[in-house]
Amino acid sequence: MFVADGITAHHAKALWGAVQRKALTDLSSVVFLPPLRKWVDENVGAGKRFFIDRPEQSEEIHSSDGLTRKYLLRLTDGQVIETVLMEYRGRFTACLSSQAGCAMGCVFCATGQMGFVRHLTAGEIVAQVHHVRRVLAASHPDRRLRNIVLMGMGEPLHNYDPVMRAMDVVSTPGGAGVGANFIAISTVGYVPHILRMAEEASPYRLAVSLHGSNEAERSSLVPVSRKWDLETLMETCRTYSRKTGRKIFFEWTLIAGKNDSPEAAGRLAALLEGIDSHVNLIPLNPTNGYDGSGSNGGLEFQKVLRAAGIPCTFRQRRGIDVAAGCGMLKAEKLRRAPGLHHLPARLP
Ligand code: SAH
Ligand code: SF4
Repeated sequence: MFVADGITAHHAKALWGAVQRKALTDLSSVVFLPPLRKWVDENVGAGKRFFIDRPEQSEEIHSSDGLTRKYLLRLTDGQVIETVLMEYRGRFTACLSSQAGCAMGCVFCATGQMGFVRHLTAGEIVAQVHHVRRVLAASHPDRRLRNIVLMGMGEPLHNYDPVMRAMDVVSTPGGAGVGANFIAISTVGYVPHILRMAEEASPYRLAVSLHGSNEAERSSLVPVSRKWDLETLMETCRTYSRKTGRKIFFEWTLIAGKNDSPEAAGRLAALLEGIDSHVNLIPLNPTNGYDGSGSNGGLEFQKVLRAAGIPCTFRQRRGIDVAAGCGMLKAEKLRRAPGLHHLPARLP
């Protein structure tokens, strides 16, 4: 495309630096060599061949400890998604959305409770990264974004190509500066695309949301387990492990009376035997009808896993005061303004 327009590799690099490294959204005052200047004026902007996607920030909320900042971003078609910037020990992580809504319907998840609206484009995913980088540059000019997690709204492996393309863009040297090994893709257990990550030797970290130690326990929380059952999922994780040699992160949201018993922890330990794994325990942010586990339950759970030799840590429940659970801020906003609505859930 560039070659046909007479744009050289040198020009392309200058354009890439302005858009991807500096995260500029207005190219009108950037000093480019004349041929590139002319090309940008003719081709980039509203109504032209290309435009720079800059979602409008419709809400910004800071947690009381100041470490979590949550943004509601409005996309060009009016859909609203959540993007979060978190600080932990001076390091910054962006939590990105991959879809507007989600089709997987996990019963405790505010996004799942909303249903699926649409996939995000690669550009809309990259735009979230640039949004938090601009925010970070304004508040901490000496710091950079270090990590990215695809743990916002949506199931990233249900939107495979755009998610991977977006992560390739942000991790390309000379771009947003986030290394591939600092990017984690979290999935509810979308089996065919976990296998695809292994086949393609994807450089990103894999996190699998398990939440259940046997089929009955898991299916009651994660309905998609009826399509890709626990046994198939664990077999897939073993294949991934064997093919890639990479560690798998397993996420476990602790839900009172559902999956937080020491017996469940024992069954989980047995499931993970032989897989290089790390378990992240996530205290539930209470949603419609679901309660978080008492901290004691969680500690007991952790003890059982550690005794079985499985590394296991608690994910901080930072920012609970900004409705920081996945999809919770948008859900709260919808309650306040029920006019904004969604299509019913569709299965993948
Ligand atoms: N769809 C992907 C990624 C987005 S959800 C997935 O499910 O993995 C990211 C994580 O947040 C998942 O582990 C999910 O189970 C967890 N989560 C969702 N709702 C939550 C809530 N209310 N409290 C705590 N964790 C929650
Ligand atoms: Fe979707 Fe993940 Fe929420 Fe499940 S937990 S409904 S997969 S966003």
